[in-house]
Amino acid sequence: MKKMTKIIAAVMALVLLVSITACGKSGLTLEDIKADGKLIVATNSEFPPFEYKDGDAVVGFDMDLCAYIAKEIGVTMEVLDIAFEDVIANIQSGSAHIGAAGMTVKPDRLQNVDFSDTYFKASQVIILKEDAAFTATSELKNMNIGVQDGTTGADYVRENIKEPMGFASGALAIEAMKAGQIDCVIIDNYPAIEFVKKNPGLKVYETPLTVEEYAIAIPKNSPELVEVINKVIKDLTANGEFDKLLEKYELK
Ligand code: GLN
Repeated sequence: MKKMTKIIAAVMALVLLVSITACGKSGLTLEDIKADGKLIVATNSEFPPFEYKDGDAVVGFDMDLCAYIAKEIGVTMEVLDIAFEDVIANIQSGSAHIGAAGMTVKPDRLQNVDFSDTYFKASQVIILKEDAAFTATSELKNMNIGVQDGTTGADYVRENIKEPMGFASGALAIEAMKAGQIDCVIIDNYPAIEFVKKNPGLKVYETPLTVEEYAIAIPKNSPELVEVINKVIKDLTANGEFDKLLEKYELK
């Protein structure tokens, strides 16, 4: 019995400690961002039309959206262009204030970051060589599938089909398919359309494999930042600017 009491006391102490750490840990405030003088946005610029390079500049739908967020906070915007799979870690470490990378809201990501309201519906689709005979997704199990590391596409293939071949970017996966190393690439639907436009000889098998929604990734425990980002999304939707952005990037 005494032992039991000790165990219960130890468990209760642990629970208290964990909850204090969770509540006490403050995230990012708007003052913090203003003190830095700029909003640092982590992204991966190989995901058109959401983020891509135009010369040296990183542009795209997400970047325009973040420019509005920076303006609302009253600072300029700076892009931290890194591998997609490193975006969340860079927000956690404070190297970036937010992440805007066509990022799908997923329960396991919510353990490490918070998300804004969602702003775009997406799905995973299959890119194939134009001459590939492919009629049903059940054929995927017999194919070598390329994905981008750390993405929902990679998760989908691993959980539902087989171990995929991972690449640092969608563009590298496409190159590997053109070189005959893999049979197809599974990636988000709008980037897939862009990749096929730029690479003659490829096609998209458009049957959606997943249903997903993109949101801005925000450090944990940063309620002001969540509020301001959600306000920008709401305002742009209400005043028609959001629709204009969708049209600008051929997302509707
Ligand atoms: N939407 C996918 C994900 O969140 C892919 C994002 C990306 O590659 N930029 O995993």
